[in-house]
Amino acid sequence: MEKSFVMVKPDGVQRELVGEIIGRFEKKGVKVIGLKLMVISEELARKHYAVHEGKSFFEELIKFITSGPVVAMVMEGEGVIGVIRKMVGATKPGDADPGTIRGDFVLDAGQNIIHASDSKENAEREIDLFFAKEEIIEYSLAVRPWIYSLP
Ligand code: GDP
Ligand code: MG
Repeated sequence: MEKSFVMVKPDGVQRELVGEIIGRFEKKGVKVIGLKLMVISEELARKHYAVHEGKSFFEELIKFITSGPVVAMVMEGEGVIGVIRKMVGATKPGDADPGTIRGDFVLDAGQNIIHASDSKENAEREIDLFFAKEEIIEYSLAVRPWIYSLP
């Protein structure tokens, strides 16, 4: 099954939205298979956001993402990469629809409380950056047959 890397950013932790955010994914049926509270080093931040290097907001982004604890997670489920991106909402505050996480809680272009992988390649890269193999737990949820009609 597909895996995605999801992170509650420092502003989401400070605003005490961790439970709210994880709760939305749990209710959807998305399974959390990796989870930790951590402070990101500058080196890890630069690797994670390497694609944005050179952009006007890059240094501000590195400062922001390393400014306090984040909750890093690996989530699993059918098509979760796309599903989670939809639940997160658009990057531009004015474009994030109500009902999405950013649409409901974010007004800023930078401090937008959550990160989620945008492709399979990036999900694999980000999971590898943040998690050791043994930190990802494969287990079954008793509720699974009520979520999936698949075998
Ligand atoms: P995402 O995939 O929706 O998180 O957005 P991007 O990959 O385009 O950007 C990564 C992160 O950089 C965003 O989540 C924001 O935290 C930050 N960011 C993106 N665009 C801007 C911007 O125009 N200004 C500022 N200050 N930060 C930005
Ligand atoms: Mg992105």
